[in-house]
Amino acid sequence: MTPPSQLSTQEIQALDSAHFIHPFTDHGDLATRGARVITRSEGVYVWDSEGVKLFDAMSGLWCVNVGYGRKELAEAAYQQMMTLPFYNSFFQTTNVPAVKLATKLAALAPKVGDRSFQHVFFSSSGSESNDSNVRMVRRYWDLLGQPDRKVIIGRLNAYHGSTMAGASLGGMSAMHAQGDLPIPNITHIGQPYYFDDGLAGESADEFGLRTAGWLEEKILELGADKVAAFIAEPIQGAGGVIIPPASYWPEIQRIVDKYGILLISDEVICAFGRLGHWFAYEKFGYKPDLVTFAKAVTSGYIPLGGVMVGNRVAKVLIEKGGEFNHGYTYSGHPVACAVALANIEIMETEQLPQRVRGEMGDYFGKRYAELNDHPLVGVAESCGFVAGLVLVKNKHTKERFVEDDAVGMICRGHCFSNGLIMRAVGDRMIIAPPLTLTHAEIDELMRLIRLCLDLTQQELH
Ligand code: PLP
Repeated sequence: MTPPSQLSTQEIQALDSAHFIHPFTDHGDLATRGARVITRSEGVYVWDSEGVKLFDAMSGLWCVNVGYGRKELAEAAYQQMMTLPFYNSFFQTTNVPAVKLATKLAALAPKVGDRSFQHVFFSSSGSESNDSNVRMVRRYWDLLGQPDRKVIIGRLNAYHGSTMAGASLGGMSAMHAQGDLPIPNITHIGQPYYFDDGLAGESADEFGLRTAGWLEEKILELGADKVAAFIAEPIQGAGGVIIPPASYWPEIQRIVDKYGILLISDEVICAFGRLGHWFAYEKFGYKPDLVTFAKAVTSGYIPLGGVMVGNRVAKVLIEKGGEFNHGYTYSGHPVACAVALANIEIMETEQLPQRVRGEMGDYFGKRYAELNDHPLVGVAESCGFVAGLVLVKNKHTKERFVEDDAVGMICRGHCFSNGLIMRAVGDRMIIAPPLTLTHAEIDELMRLIRLCLDLTQQELH
């Protein structure tokens, strides 16, 4: 058979459509249009099979924090594959990269209040990690003699993955509609989306307190002795980059403390420098018990995920638990852990978290905020190197487009045609670029976004 590199774009698309079931894809559409075939990458750019260069403002899928083309990561994988490509970590066995990575992550995770993170559980993805969270949370309460504490509260429009538990913890109605989700003992409260749900005359901070209060209402409705945990993303990513008001997280912390329930911070998007810190709970100052990570721990170069297990949970699981009947073949995969160590070394050497919370983050935020003057933009907000804007019909009345207008998809189409990858979530456009952006690249990105907004505006009016 001809090697894939010698196939034409049309041939690859035909084989793709014939054999490859993609995540979150309408295969009817795919068969008609053909997938875009991404073939190579460098820095902040990717190229497709037709040679078109695209500024990847989504870092793959919130992954490539150190940018593309890092030889150190390829070298780390090669060396580890030649030394020990795989061994499991079940049944009293371990491997050096996994031990080193767990130790490194424990050192990077800041202690907040009485919460510290000395332990890590490894998986290969965010979804598996959140499944592991459900198992650990239930085991924790069982071991404490409170087996009725089973309910985990999540938020509407949150994304926590695609496994049965991950999709149930998430609050995506389209996912729940397929496959009888959520599974039992998972329920949801609303999200803190000020632009959408803020009341007339209500300040952002008042809104933050009111929406955090929904957690307390839900706990009281269920009975506190039935509630095991609350799970949330520091900033909702896949839901459209919903940045909570400053008052939100402190109030959530007050509520989980009051009722003694566990707090799970799903940092699959927000950790590893994206918000200017190794872990995002530090940015918002709350004290999670479990922290989910994946994606940028290896900058997406190889699959790896996991859970930082805080001292409160680890103590019970380890001291009282005996054998925990849970784990994955690839928990602590030596090659993935070696790549993660090399990735973290790059982030440390280039001071990427410091860069994002320092001058570079300020410049990105300042340039991004300029988009607020665009007639199509209701509000454009960023935090660190993640940003979102809402497309509106009328800036002054905040009138929105209807779903059938497909405004996000129109804008996304203009982005692709003009060399920019930006994601559309309904009427929101979002980005999460590599943390390595230079001033010139930030300027280029903002120029491209503005151009695509102009073209969208022209098409709609
Ligand atoms: N949690 C969050 C916050 C995510 O954004 C994602 C993926 O985007 C996941 C979990 C699921 O991760 P994965 O796709 O690696 O299973």
